[in-house]
Amino acid sequence: MDLEIQRKKAEKLYLSNFGCRTNFERAVFFSWYCAIRDCKYCYMSTQPSNKKPHEARRRIESVLAEVYLLGKFGWDFGQLSGGHEAFDEDELENLLKLINIIHKQGIWLNAGPLTEGQITRFKPYLRGIVGALETPRQSLHDEICPSKPISDIENTLDLALKHGLETSVTIILGLGENKGDYDLLKEFIERFKISVIHYYALNPQKGTAYENTKSPPQEYQGWWISKTRLDFPKIIIQCGIWADKVNQVAYLLNSGANTVSKFPALKLFGRPEAIELERQFKLAGRSHRSNLTHPMKIDATADISELNLPESLKTKIIEKINMYLKRMN
Ligand code: SF4
Repeated sequence: MDLEIQRKKAEKLYLSNFGCRTNFERAVFFSWYCAIRDCKYCYMSTQPSNKKPHEARRRIESVLAEVYLLGKFGWDFGQLSGGHEAFDEDELENLLKLINIIHKQGIWLNAGPLTEGQITRFKPYLRGIVGALETPRQSLHDEICPSKPISDIENTLDLALKHGLETSVTIILGLGENKGDYDLLKEFIERFKISVIHYYALNPQKGTAYENTKSPPQEYQGWWISKTRLDFPKIIIQCGIWADKVNQVAYLLNSGANTVSKFPALKLFGRPEAIELERQFKLAGRSHRSNLTHPMKIDATADISELNLPESLKTKIIEKINMYLKRMN
C-alpha cells in the first residue's frame, strides 16, 4: 500500500478509537549499569566491565523527585527502566513501593528478564511488564543481543500474563531489520497480547557498533507505526523521539501513534525544542495535558511532607525537586 494512503487510514482509525488526544510520556531511568551489557546498540555496552551496580545507579531521591514532577507537569509515566540487576530484588521492590507512594498507580517496568518470584513480589506495584525485544527477527536479535535471548523476554512476558499483568514491547528501528520482518512482530504482538508498543528510531551511541550508522527517516518509523495501527486498532503506540527529531512529531502522530517519549523534558524544559514539541502536538491536531514549557509554582514541601515516607528521605526528595525546579525555571 502507498505509504500516504496507509498513514491516512491509520490516522482515521486512531481518531475513531482514541479521539484527537496525545501526551508526552516520561520514561524514568534508574541506572547506567546493566549486568547483560553486550547489546551492540546500547550505551551500557560501552561501560567498563568492572563497574559495580551501586556505582552506576541513580539516587533513590532523584528517581522519586522525577516521579513527583512528572505528575505535576501532566506527563504520563511511560515506564520505569534501567539495566538488568542494577538493583537486587529487595532494592527494586523497595523502589517500586516508594514510587507507588508518590504515583499511586501501577507502573510499567522495563528491567530485563524477570523470574516468577520477582514478578510475584513486584506485581502489587505494576500495571505491566515491558519486554525489550528491540528487533523481531531471531537471527538478527541473536547477533546484536548475544546475552539477551528472545526466549528470556518471551518467558518474562508469559509470566506477566500468567500473573494478570499487561504486556508491552519496545522496538528500535534501524538495527538491520526490514519491512519484511513486520509479520514476525505482528505474531509476537498477538502471541503475547501486547497492549503497548514503543517504536524508537535508532539513536547511534558513541563507542557502540552502531556509532557510524544513521538513524532511519521519519517515513520508515511512520511506516511501522501506521502498519501496526491498521492491524491493531486499539493498541497503544508510543513513538520515541530524541531532541533532534522534535520536528517529526506531527508526522509520527499522524501515522497513528498515541503518545511521544524519550524527549529529555527535564533538561530541555521551556527550551526551543520543548516549545517546538508542543507546537507539533498542535500541528498534528492533538490536544495534550503535558506542560513542557511553562514554569509552575509548586509547594513540594507540603506535598511530600504528608506522604508515608521515611522523614530523612522526604528531606532529600524535596531538595531534589527544588533543584530540578530551579533548573527548569
Ligand atoms: S539488556 Fe538493555 S540495558 Fe542491558 S545492555 Fe542490553 S539493551 Fe542495554
